[in-house]
This record gives sequence, C-alpha cells and structure tokens, in this order.
Amino acid sequence: MIIILKSGVTDAQIKHVIERVESLGLRAHLSCGTHRTIIGVIGDKSQLQPARFQAIPGVADVISVLPSYKLASLDAHPEPSIVNVKGVKIGGGNLAMIAGPCAVESAERMDAIAKSVRASGANILRGGAFKPRTSPYAYQGMGEEGLKILRETGDKHGLPVVTEVMDPRRVEMVERYADMIQIGARNMQNFVLLTEVGSTKKPVLLKRGMSATIVDLLMSAEYILSQGNPDVVLCERGVKGFDPATRNLFDVAAVPACKVLSHLPIIVDPSHATGRPDLIGPCALAGVAAGADGVHIEVHNCPEEAMSDGPQALLPEQYQQLAGQIRALAALLGKTISPAAGCKS
Ligand code: PEP
Ligand code: MN
Repeated sequence: MIIILKSGVTDAQIKHVIERVESLGLRAHLSCGTHRTIIGVIGDKSQLQPARFQAIPGVADVISVLPSYKLASLDAHPEPSIVNVKGVKIGGGNLAMIAGPCAVESAERMDAIAKSVRASGANILRGGAFKPRTSPYAYQGMGEEGLKILRETGDKHGLPVVTEVMDPRRVEMVERYADMIQIGARNMQNFVLLTEVGSTKKPVLLKRGMSATIVDLLMSAEYILSQGNPDVVLCERGVKGFDPATRNLFDVAAVPACKVLSHLPIIVDPSHATGRPDLIGPCALAGVAAGADGVHIEVHNCPEEAMSDGPQALLPEQYQQLAGQIRALAALLGKTISPAAGCKS
C-alpha cells in the first residue's frame, strides 16, 4: 500500500502516519520528492483497512498495490481455473454451452427443449424455478416443482442443470436439485446469498449486476471463494445502457478485461444482454471470439407461450444453427466443448 501525503503536510503529521503504520506491526518507507511525500507500507496487510489511513490529517490518497479480490486475482492463481460441472469443463480452453428456457414451465415443455438443445450440442441445461421479476404480479416460477422437473429432465437427457437461487433460505433446497447454482444479476451484491452459496459444494454461475463494475463482480466472486467454494464462473449479461434499442448493453470488453485480472472462467449471456433474437447470434460469436469460456442462451419451442422472456428466446432450429457456428469458431480458436456425458444425481 502507498500513502500519498498532501503537499504542505507537516512533520508532525508525517510522524503520526508512520506511528500508525508501525503500531500495526508494519514498516513505513518514507520517500520525500520535490513536490510530494509518499509512504510505502511494507508487511502483511491482510488486516489493514486502507480507508482508515485516508482519514488521517495530511493524507491525500491511499493506493492499494494488491487487489482486494485476493482469491479471484491472478496473483492467487496465475493459471486459468477450470470449473467442472458434472464432467462438463468450463475455462482453460473449454467452452460451456448452456441452453434452455428462461423458466421451467412444464415437464413436457422442458423435455422437448432439452431434447432439442442436447441434439444441437448444448452441454448444460438451464431453467428457472424461482424467477426474479420486476413486477410482483408477473410469473414467479414453479418453485420446488420446477426444480424437480429440471432435475428429471437433465437426468433423462444426460445434461447437468443450472438454476437460479434468489433467497438464502432456499440455497439448501436448490443445491439438492442443481448441478450448478445461478446467482442472477439482481442478486450479485446480495452478500448474505453469496456467503450461503459459498458454503455449498456446487459450482456457482455468478452473473454481473446490471450496474456493477468489473471490480464489483470480482468482489462478489471473492465472497463465494472466501467461504471455501472455489468453483465460480462469471457471466457478462449486459449492463444498463441509455438506448432502448437493446435490452441491456452487451459489454464484450468485460470478457478480456476480466481475464487480465482474474483466473475465473467468464461466459457470455447474449440473451439477456440484447433481449433480441436477431442479435443473440452475432453477440454470442463476438463473446467467444473475445475469449469467453462459454455461452448462455435462452431457447424456447413456442416463445409466444413462454411465461417469461419469450421475446428474446431462440427457437430450437435457430439455436441449432448458432451452435454449429460456435463449434466452428471454437475449433478455429483451438477450444474444446466437453460433451455432456450423462449424469445421475
Ligand atoms: C435469467 O437467467 O433468466 C435471468 C433472470 O438472468 P439475469 O439475472 O441476467 O437477468
Ligand atoms: Mn430469462
């Protein structure tokens, strides 16, 4: 950590800062420049609170040299992490192909969609049983009945399943049914929920909040990692923009930007990022070209009957075509797509 002192700082103020540093068992290295004086802080700073130094008279700024997301950072783990979801690898050159409807609606519907996306090359099945809706009057999901349908459908078609949890009190229930637990954009900074999923043994799909910075996303991942769960996959799903032409603003640069900071895999969700079926394909391919470790796409066999997010759903045949293009791009980039090898929970 570096403490930058204000111009005109007094000797007494400098002495006070140094005493503070030393009282924490750390060493202070004073460097007096022509215009500015700085103090380098040396030693184990894990218990140090930089903001407190900011409050000392004479201090202009405090700069942390190491990122606060210690476990998520490349310093902690220089190689890309590979997250294993029931045999499906994500990261380190392995692409996730997550597909399925926004919400689980019925066993028949889930079966038909799972069959089609599996045939097209999806390796993880998605479906929400607890839906985060802006309106309390909108469809809220099937709850535990939906989790059962998702589990049975995944088992029948040999696909691991991912589903969202919104309530810390439901984590134990969702963990029983899911192979991967999704934290949605709206809950990215629900720290109680992050702590709960961090205590599970299931991989977590952590979506970027719609107004969250990349560092915010990594700090949320840190909550999960710090509880002992190492299996976090980040997801860029668009941030709030100003233009209603797309549902959100797809931040494709977030993919390489995360990769220079973190070892965690990052996938893209062009369905929620764009909200438009005609833009999902180009943005999925752009995400993979930018280095994403997978794509998350909503597919529905009758969008006009969908209980949520119908307007952005791809039809099974559209997904089939896109999956072929993603495979071709993956081959060009030397990436592997783990086949779903079948799974029984
Ligand atoms: C979803 O995956 O259906 C969903 C609600 O996503 P997000 O949290 O990204 O809006
Ligand atoms: Mn959705």
